[in-house]
Amino acid sequence: MAQSIPHYIAGRRVEGTSGRSAPVFNPATGLQSGSVALAAPEEVRAAVDAAKAAAPGWAATTPLRRARILNAFLRIMEERIDSLSAIITAEHGKVLSDAKGEIQRGMEVVEFATGIPQMLKGEITEDVGTKVDSYGVRQPLGIVAGITPFNFPAMVPMWMFPVALACGNCFILKPSERDPSAALVLAEWLKEAGLPDGVFNVVNGDKDAVDALLHDPDISAISFVGSTPIAKYIYETAARTGKRCQALGGAKNHMIIMPDADLDQAVDALMGAAYGSAGERCMAVSVAVPVGEETANALMAKLEPKVRALKVGPGTDPEAEMGPLVTRQHLDKVSGYVDAGVAEGATLVVDGRGLKLQGYEDGYFIGGTLFDNVTPDMRIYKEEIFGPVLAVLRADSFATAATLINEHEFGNGTAIFTRDGDAAREFAHDIKVGMVGINVPIPVPMAFHSFGGWKASLFGDHHMHGPEGVRFYTRLKTITTRWPTGIRAGAEFVMPTMK
Ligand code: NAD
Repeated sequence: MAQSIPHYIAGRRVEGTSGRSAPVFNPATGLQSGSVALAAPEEVRAAVDAAKAAAPGWAATTPLRRARILNAFLRIMEERIDSLSAIITAEHGKVLSDAKGEIQRGMEVVEFATGIPQMLKGEITEDVGTKVDSYGVRQPLGIVAGITPFNFPAMVPMWMFPVALACGNCFILKPSERDPSAALVLAEWLKEAGLPDGVFNVVNGDKDAVDALLHDPDISAISFVGSTPIAKYIYETAARTGKRCQALGGAKNHMIIMPDADLDQAVDALMGAAYGSAGERCMAVSVAVPVGEETANALMAKLEPKVRALKVGPGTDPEAEMGPLVTRQHLDKVSGYVDAGVAEGATLVVDGRGLKLQGYEDGYFIGGTLFDNVTPDMRIYKEEIFGPVLAVLRADSFATAATLINEHEFGNGTAIFTRDGDAAREFAHDIKVGMVGINVPIPVPMAFHSFGGWKASLFGDHHMHGPEGVRFYTRLKTITTRWPTGIRAGAEFVMPTMK
């Protein structure tokens, strides 16, 4: 029977009252496993009211106490990581080890956030004038909201809320309606760790819930991760409604393979980066750019058999390297891109379409797919496919390869494989992309650095987590004090200046 997936408001699960819901499926079987409530604006408002009631108390809780609650949350996550991985695999489809990996990356942000007493220390300058001191403090924004995509149902929310909460804000999470259950578990574990009711709330829903968040006057900031058209819409609407906003969008990540690269290392890296999590990662490598015909031929010779040998299966199969796609619609979309690539004249070297697994005939499976001779005018090059489809685009030189990347609409991540320090240095310096790997295929920054792309991959000024996260979730107040014992300068009618 389909389980009902409610909201989480003021410290408890709350059934939806809008009368609207959406089905949630197990992508490996194609069977409906749940029915998620889709919030009406009144339900979003109830979450905001709960956060509003909790906000003064939470902001006044000392940073060390807030950090201790996050520490207790971390311990709970360590103990129960397997149960959360199973929930993610059941709704997203990714293999269990990968689900565990995303939780671990999220937990690193929690660890980072437990250091908040150190990060909230302000700056002070003594004697900016005679007996005048100036200091800056960072204060919480109040109530902030996070809107997250399906592909990392635990990690992406954890890019946001640990830092927001540690900084003293209340948080409202609107997870993806395709795999909403992980968020509810995180909410319950936060409560168990000692988080007061109302500080963290989950509203499930679709555009209606998102629009209610965007227009709510009590919400100060919106963090968004998802596709580029929605990211742009979120950013533009938040600007109109006067909210701070960071909106991370889609990607098309290139990996350059130089003639001097260790080819075996590069091929292994490509396999994991292109096909891990069935390519449903914003940092997946979806374009390989070998430099020179010889490199390209050697790369293809090593790549093709490995793509053919990829083990595709349900996420619960410990042998599987890649699970199904998230929904039937997404499977159709990805297969449609493979059709388009063939029609546009790319060479389809390995075709993953139409894969049927015994016992899982209704699952949303597609095998690893490999295209050669892709050109920059093709849709499979220009658009984000978000599936296990790797496009190989042959470049005649490093300069051509770098220009391709710089001229692409997206600028999330990129990598170069080379033994040449000059090329690597030039690449790192000149490339117009937010996250760069040198012999590292998926250069996701650690929690104490910040995550974010350039160009159409990020709208806004701040990247997520790390120092940028702390800046995003706090606002600066600069205080100037004078203790004027014995000073009487008289009224001043001009700007005070240092004479
Ligand atoms: P999506 O844009 O469809 O959905 C993201 C969120 O926006 C969801 O919560 C969804 O409910 C909401 N939403 C969807 N349509 C909306 C609308 N019309 N108005 C308001 N809200 C709406 O993205 P997705 O398919 O869940 O996730 C995949 C996308 O996310 C890919 O493009 C991927 O590259 C991107 N992504 C980017 C990053 C990054 O760091 N840049 C990380 C993960 C995923």
